[in-house]
Amino acid sequence: MVDQSRIPYRHPQPKESAPELVIPSVIPEDDRIWVPQAENVWFRPLCLCASRGYWMNLLKVRKSGVLSRHRHPQPVHGYVIKGRWRYLEHDWEAREGGYVYEAPGETHTLVVDEGVEEMITLFQVNGVMLYVDPDGAVMGYEDVFTKIDLCRAHYTKVGLGADYVDQFIR
Ligand code: FE
Repeated sequence: MVDQSRIPYRHPQPKESAPELVIPSVIPEDDRIWVPQAENVWFRPLCLCASRGYWMNLLKVRKSGVLSRHRHPQPVHGYVIKGRWRYLEHDWEAREGGYVYEAPGETHTLVVDEGVEEMITLFQVNGVMLYVDPDGAVMGYEDVFTKIDLCRAHYTKVGLGADYVDQFIR
């Protein structure tokens, strides 16, 4: 009898299925891939899922203090690769190697404390990040489309080309 276990699937993938996305180095060798977001704050796109309205990215911070106050209408998943951070609204700290789930409806204020030279966290963010004042009034927002726009503008500027971001979009 023929051993079937090592035979690849013999049919085409569904034609509606998008191509897979494989990124060998999540922390990029080329620093230009980090997109500046504020002074000493960058993000590194991994999957910009325009078709479903979410994005996967690394957030890198090299400063201490308050980064943003924001509300999540949809869930966020985070994995701390380096450093640590916390929210003013909670008494826990997200530490290197840790995982965090942020529930829909949460409003919180992200802080990196003194003594953290660099923080890098993988975030999967669904829908929208609403930037708010202490009463919850919306001051601005980010979604997968504003992320794509930031990437495109930055990659054009640093010479990678406007199309460089396309590889991350699904
Ligand atoms: Fe958050």
